Amino acid sequence: MSTQPTAVITGASSGIGEATARRLAAAGYRVVLVARRLDRIEALAEELGGAGHEGVEAHRVDVTDRAAVDAFAARLDRCDVLVNNAGGALGMDRVAEGDPAEWRAMYEVNVLGVLHMTQALLPALTASGAGTVLVVSSTAGLGTYEGGAGYVAAKHGAHVLAETLRLEIVGTPVRVIEIAPGMVRTDEFSLTRFRGDAAAADRVYAGVAEPLTAADVADSITWAVTRPPHVNVDLLVLRPRAQASHTKVHREL
Ligand code: NDP
Repeated sequence: MSTQPTAVITGASSGIGEATARRLAAAGYRVVLVARRLDRIEALAEELGGAGHEGVEAHRVDVTDRAAVDAFAARLDRCDVLVNNAGGALGMDRVAEGDPAEWRAMYEVNVLGVLHMTQALLPALTASGAGTVLVVSSTAGLGTYEGGAGYVAAKHGAHVLAETLRLEIVGTPVRVIEIAPGMVRTDEFSLTRFRGDAAAADRVYAGVAEPLTAADVADSITWAVTRPPHVNVDLLVLRPRAQASHTKVHREL
Protein backbone atom coordinates (compact mmCIF):
# COMPACT_ATOMS: atom_id res chain seq x y z
CA MET A 1 0.00 0.00 0.00
CA SER A 2 1.20 3.53 -0.77
CA THR A 3 2.56 5.32 2.29
CA GLN A 4 1.43 8.66 0.87
CA PRO A 5 -2.10 10.00 1.33
CA THR A 6 -3.90 9.49 -1.96
CA ALA A 7 -6.30 11.89 -3.68
CA VAL A 8 -8.52 10.74 -6.56
CA ILE A 9 -9.57 13.61 -8.83
CA THR A 10 -12.27 13.11 -11.44
CA GLY A 11 -12.31 15.31 -14.52
CA ALA A 12 -8.55 15.82 -14.19
CA SER A 13 -8.05 16.21 -17.95
CA SER A 14 -8.88 19.93 -18.02
CA GLY A 15 -9.91 23.03 -16.11
CA ILE A 16 -10.58 22.84 -12.38
CA GLY A 17 -9.75 19.13 -12.11
CA GLU A 18 -6.37 19.52 -13.77
CA ALA A 19 -5.53 22.55 -11.61
CA THR A 20 -6.63 20.66 -8.50
CA ALA A 21 -4.39 17.72 -9.37
CA ARG A 22 -1.42 20.07 -9.61
CA ARG A 23 -2.23 21.76 -6.28
CA LEU A 24 -2.88 18.56 -4.37
CA ALA A 25 0.33 17.02 -5.72
CA ALA A 26 2.21 20.12 -4.55
CA ALA A 27 0.51 19.75 -1.16
CA GLY A 28 2.01 16.25 -0.81
CA TYR A 29 -0.75 13.96 -2.07
CA ARG A 30 -0.23 11.05 -4.42
CA VAL A 31 -2.72 12.02 -7.08
CA VAL A 32 -4.80 9.58 -9.10
CA LEU A 33 -6.22 11.20 -12.22
CA VAL A 34 -9.55 10.14 -13.68
CA ALA A 35 -11.20 11.24 -16.95
CA ARG A 36 -12.25 9.82 -20.31
CA ARG A 37 -9.42 11.41 -22.33
CA LEU A 38 -6.55 9.17 -21.33
CA ASP A 39 -3.94 11.00 -23.44
CA ARG A 40 -4.45 14.20 -21.46
CA ILE A 41 -4.27 12.65 -18.00
CA GLU A 42 -1.31 10.49 -19.01
CA ALA A 43 0.53 13.62 -20.14
CA LEU A 44 -0.29 15.33 -16.84
CA ALA A 45 0.82 12.26 -14.88
CA GLU A 46 4.09 12.26 -16.78
CA GLU A 47 4.61 15.96 -16.16
CA LEU A 48 3.90 15.63 -12.42
CA GLY A 49 6.15 12.57 -12.21
CA GLY A 50 8.91 14.53 -13.94
CA ALA A 51 8.49 17.28 -11.35
CA GLY A 52 9.25 14.77 -8.60
CA HIS A 53 5.73 13.77 -7.54
CA GLU A 54 5.71 10.04 -6.92
CA GLY A 55 3.12 7.43 -7.75
CA VAL A 56 0.89 9.57 -9.97
CA GLU A 57 -1.58 7.40 -11.87
CA ALA A 58 -3.93 8.08 -14.78
CA HIS A 59 -7.08 6.00 -15.30
CA ARG A 60 -9.53 6.22 -18.16
CA VAL A 61 -12.90 6.03 -16.41
CA ASP A 62 -16.29 7.31 -17.50
CA VAL A 63 -17.90 8.16 -14.15
CA THR A 64 -21.36 7.44 -15.56
CA ASP A 65 -20.33 3.82 -16.21
CA ARG A 66 -20.81 1.98 -12.93
CA ALA A 67 -18.91 -1.15 -14.00
CA ALA A 68 -15.90 0.96 -15.01
CA VAL A 69 -16.01 2.86 -11.72
CA ASP A 70 -16.16 -0.36 -9.71
CA ALA A 71 -13.26 -1.87 -11.67
CA PHE A 72 -11.22 1.29 -11.04
CA ALA A 73 -12.00 1.23 -7.30
CA ALA A 74 -10.98 -2.42 -7.06
CA ARG A 75 -7.52 -1.58 -8.43
CA LEU A 76 -6.91 1.27 -5.97
CA ASP A 77 -4.88 0.35 -2.89
CA ARG A 78 -5.73 3.44 -0.86
CA CYS A 79 -7.94 6.54 -0.97
CA ASP A 80 -7.87 9.44 1.48
CA VAL A 81 -9.52 12.15 -0.63
CA LEU A 82 -12.07 11.92 -3.44
CA VAL A 83 -12.59 15.09 -5.46
CA ASN A 84 -15.81 14.66 -7.44
CA ASN A 85 -15.18 17.31 -10.08
CA ALA A 86 -16.20 15.67 -13.38
CA GLY A 87 -19.29 17.38 -14.71
CA GLY A 88 -20.56 20.18 -16.82
CA ALA A 89 -23.44 21.86 -18.61
CA LEU A 90 -25.10 21.19 -21.96
CA GLY A 91 -27.15 23.95 -23.54
CA MET A 92 -28.79 27.16 -22.33
CA ASP A 93 -32.29 26.34 -23.44
CA ARG A 94 -35.41 27.45 -21.67
CA VAL A 95 -37.54 24.76 -20.07
CA ALA A 96 -40.02 24.95 -22.97
CA GLU A 97 -37.33 24.04 -25.51
CA GLY A 98 -34.84 21.97 -23.47
CA ASP A 99 -33.61 18.67 -24.91
CA PRO A 100 -34.48 15.78 -22.56
CA ALA A 101 -31.40 13.87 -23.76
CA GLU A 102 -29.17 16.74 -22.60
CA TRP A 103 -30.97 16.95 -19.26
CA ARG A 104 -30.44 13.20 -18.81
CA ALA A 105 -26.75 13.45 -19.73
CA MET A 106 -26.24 16.28 -17.22
CA TYR A 107 -27.95 14.28 -14.49
CA GLU A 108 -25.84 11.23 -15.35
CA VAL A 109 -22.50 12.98 -14.99
CA ASN A 110 -23.19 15.62 -12.34
CA VAL A 111 -25.27 13.44 -9.99
CA LEU A 112 -24.92 9.74 -10.80
CA GLY A 113 -21.20 10.17 -11.54
CA VAL A 114 -20.73 11.55 -8.02
CA LEU A 115 -22.90 8.76 -6.61
CA HIS A 116 -20.94 6.02 -8.39
CA MET A 117 -17.52 7.30 -7.37
CA THR A 118 -18.59 8.01 -3.80
CA GLN A 119 -20.23 4.61 -3.28
CA ALA A 120 -17.27 2.80 -4.81
CA LEU A 121 -14.63 4.62 -2.75
CA LEU A 122 -16.43 5.10 0.57
CA PRO A 123 -15.05 1.85 2.05
CA ALA A 124 -11.46 2.94 1.28
CA LEU A 125 -12.13 6.49 2.51
CA THR A 126 -13.50 5.08 5.77
CA ALA A 127 -10.57 2.67 6.11
CA SER A 128 -8.15 5.59 5.75
CA GLY A 129 -9.24 6.79 9.20
CA ALA A 130 -9.60 10.40 7.98
CA GLY A 131 -11.30 10.49 4.60
CA THR A 132 -12.68 13.40 2.58
CA VAL A 133 -15.43 13.33 -0.02
CA LEU A 134 -15.41 16.63 -1.88
CA VAL A 135 -18.09 17.62 -4.37
CA VAL A 136 -17.53 20.42 -6.86
CA SER A 137 -21.10 21.58 -7.29
CA SER A 138 -21.82 25.14 -8.41
CA THR A 139 -23.74 28.22 -7.41
CA ALA A 140 -26.17 26.61 -9.90
CA GLY A 141 -26.74 24.07 -7.11
CA LEU A 142 -28.06 26.80 -4.84
CA GLY A 143 -30.16 29.06 -7.06
CA THR A 144 -31.53 29.21 -10.57
CA TYR A 145 -31.41 31.37 -13.70
CA GLU A 146 -33.28 31.51 -17.00
CA GLY A 147 -31.96 29.03 -19.53
CA GLY A 148 -30.15 27.08 -16.84
CA ALA A 149 -32.78 24.66 -15.55
CA GLY A 150 -31.25 21.40 -16.81
CA TYR A 151 -27.83 22.17 -15.33
CA VAL A 152 -29.34 23.84 -12.27
CA ALA A 153 -31.48 20.78 -11.54
CA ALA A 154 -28.45 18.50 -11.86
CA LYS A 155 -26.24 20.65 -9.63
CA HIS A 156 -29.05 20.90 -7.07
CA GLY A 157 -28.90 17.08 -7.14
CA ALA A 158 -25.17 17.13 -6.41
CA HIS A 159 -25.74 19.62 -3.58
CA VAL A 160 -28.44 17.44 -2.03
CA LEU A 161 -26.27 14.34 -2.35
CA ALA A 162 -23.44 16.06 -0.43
CA GLU A 163 -25.75 17.46 2.24
CA THR A 164 -27.53 14.13 2.78
CA LEU A 165 -24.34 12.07 2.82
CA ARG A 166 -22.94 14.38 5.52
CA LEU A 167 -25.97 13.64 7.70
CA GLU A 168 -25.82 9.92 7.04
CA ILE A 169 -22.14 9.28 7.76
CA VAL A 170 -21.67 11.57 10.74
CA GLY A 171 -19.73 9.62 13.35
CA THR A 172 -17.57 7.89 10.74
CA PRO A 173 -14.07 9.22 9.97
CA VAL A 174 -15.19 10.73 6.64
CA ARG A 175 -16.16 14.37 6.10
CA VAL A 176 -18.11 15.82 3.19
CA ILE A 177 -17.06 19.12 1.66
CA GLU A 178 -18.93 21.01 -1.04
CA ILE A 179 -17.26 23.71 -3.12
CA ALA A 180 -19.73 25.82 -5.10
CA PRO A 181 -18.05 28.12 -7.62
CA GLY A 182 -19.77 30.86 -9.58
CA MET A 183 -18.28 32.08 -12.86
CA VAL A 184 -14.98 30.34 -13.64
CA ARG A 185 -13.24 30.94 -16.95
CA THR A 186 -11.91 27.56 -18.03
CA ASP A 187 -11.02 26.53 -21.58
CA GLU A 188 -13.77 24.00 -22.13
CA PHE A 189 -16.77 24.49 -19.81
CA SER A 190 -18.65 27.07 -21.91
CA LEU A 191 -17.46 25.63 -25.23
CA THR A 192 -19.03 22.32 -24.23
CA ARG A 193 -22.17 24.09 -23.02
CA PHE A 194 -22.59 25.94 -26.32
CA ARG A 195 -21.76 22.87 -28.43
CA GLY A 196 -18.45 24.24 -29.71
CA ASP A 197 -19.70 27.77 -30.52
CA ALA A 198 -16.67 29.83 -29.44
CA ALA A 199 -18.40 33.21 -29.87
CA ALA A 200 -21.29 32.15 -27.61
CA ALA A 201 -18.81 30.76 -25.08
CA ASP A 202 -16.85 34.03 -25.07
CA ARG A 203 -20.03 36.07 -24.45
CA VAL A 204 -20.39 34.40 -21.03
CA TYR A 205 -17.28 36.26 -19.86
CA ALA A 206 -17.66 39.43 -21.96
CA GLY A 207 -16.55 42.52 -20.07
CA VAL A 208 -16.05 40.67 -16.79
CA ALA A 209 -12.77 41.99 -15.46
CA GLU A 210 -11.61 38.91 -13.65
CA PRO A 211 -13.69 35.75 -13.70
CA LEU A 212 -12.40 33.07 -11.32
CA THR A 213 -9.70 30.84 -12.78
CA ALA A 214 -9.31 27.08 -12.41
CA ALA A 215 -6.33 27.81 -10.14
CA ASP A 216 -8.52 29.97 -7.86
CA VAL A 217 -10.94 27.10 -7.36
CA ALA A 218 -8.15 24.54 -6.97
CA ASP A 219 -6.62 26.75 -4.31
CA SER A 220 -9.88 26.72 -2.29
CA ILE A 221 -10.29 22.97 -2.77
CA THR A 222 -6.76 22.40 -1.51
CA TRP A 223 -7.31 24.74 1.44
CA ALA A 224 -10.49 22.87 2.45
CA VAL A 225 -8.89 19.44 2.02
CA THR A 226 -5.80 20.35 4.03
CA ARG A 227 -7.70 21.56 7.13
CA PRO A 228 -7.25 19.20 10.10
CA PRO A 229 -9.58 16.17 9.80
CA HIS A 230 -11.96 17.37 12.54
CA VAL A 231 -12.64 20.61 10.62
CA ASN A 232 -15.40 20.23 8.02
CA VAL A 233 -15.84 22.99 5.48
CA ASP A 234 -19.47 22.08 4.75
CA LEU A 235 -20.04 24.49 1.88
CA LEU A 236 -17.81 27.10 0.34
CA VAL A 237 -19.36 29.50 -2.18
CA LEU A 238 -16.82 31.20 -4.38
CA ARG A 239 -17.54 33.94 -6.93
CA PRO A 240 -15.52 36.56 -8.75
CA ARG A 241 -15.85 40.03 -7.21
CA ALA A 242 -17.67 41.18 -10.34
CA GLN A 243 -20.45 38.62 -9.84
CA ALA A 244 -22.98 39.29 -7.08
CA SER A 245 -25.40 36.60 -8.27
CA HIS A 246 -26.12 34.57 -11.41
CA THR A 247 -27.99 37.47 -12.89
CA LYS A 248 -26.08 40.39 -11.36
CA VAL A 249 -22.73 40.54 -13.11
CA HIS A 250 -20.70 43.74 -13.56
CA ARG A 251 -19.51 43.97 -17.17
CA GLU A 252 -17.25 46.74 -18.48
CA LEU A 253 -18.45 46.89 -22.08
P1 NDP B 1 -14.19 21.34 -17.99
O1 NDP B 1 -15.17 21.14 -19.08
O2 NDP B 1 -12.85 21.90 -18.27
O3 NDP B 1 -13.95 19.99 -17.19
C1 NDP B 1 -14.88 18.96 -17.08
C2 NDP B 1 -14.11 17.69 -16.76
O4 NDP B 1 -15.03 16.63 -16.51
C3 NDP B 1 -13.20 17.26 -17.89
O5 NDP B 1 -11.95 16.90 -17.35
C4 NDP B 1 -13.90 16.02 -18.46
O6 NDP B 1 -12.92 15.12 -18.92
C5 NDP B 1 -14.59 15.48 -17.22
N1 NDP B 1 -15.74 14.65 -17.53
C6 NDP B 1 -16.87 15.03 -18.17
N2 NDP B 1 -17.69 13.97 -18.29
C7 NDP B 1 -17.05 12.91 -17.71
C8 NDP B 1 -17.37 11.55 -17.53
N3 NDP B 1 -18.54 11.06 -17.95
N4 NDP B 1 -16.47 10.74 -16.89
C9 NDP B 1 -15.31 11.24 -16.46
N5 NDP B 1 -14.95 12.52 -16.60
C10 NDP B 1 -15.81 13.34 -17.23
O7 NDP B 1 -14.96 22.25 -16.91
P2 NDP B 1 -14.52 22.97 -15.56
O8 NDP B 1 -13.16 22.58 -15.15
O9 NDP B 1 -14.87 24.39 -15.71
O10 NDP B 1 -15.59 22.32 -14.56
C11 NDP B 1 -15.27 21.33 -13.60
C12 NDP B 1 -16.44 21.16 -12.65
O11 NDP B 1 -16.75 22.42 -12.06
C13 NDP B 1 -17.73 20.68 -13.32
O12 NDP B 1 -18.41 19.80 -12.44
C14 NDP B 1 -18.52 21.96 -13.50
O13 NDP B 1 -19.91 21.72 -13.57
C15 NDP B 1 -18.12 22.71 -12.24
N6 NDP B 1 -18.28 24.17 -12.31
C16 NDP B 1 -17.73 24.91 -13.33
C17 NDP B 1 -17.93 26.27 -13.38
C18 NDP B 1 -17.40 27.11 -14.49
O14 NDP B 1 -17.88 28.27 -14.64
N7 NDP B 1 -16.45 26.68 -15.29
C19 NDP B 1 -18.69 26.96 -12.33
C20 NDP B 1 -19.17 26.11 -11.27
C21 NDP B 1 -18.97 24.77 -11.28
P3 NDP B 1 -13.07 14.13 -20.17
O15 NDP B 1 -13.85 14.86 -21.24
O16 NDP B 1 -11.64 13.84 -20.54
O17 NDP B 1 -13.77 12.94 -19.61
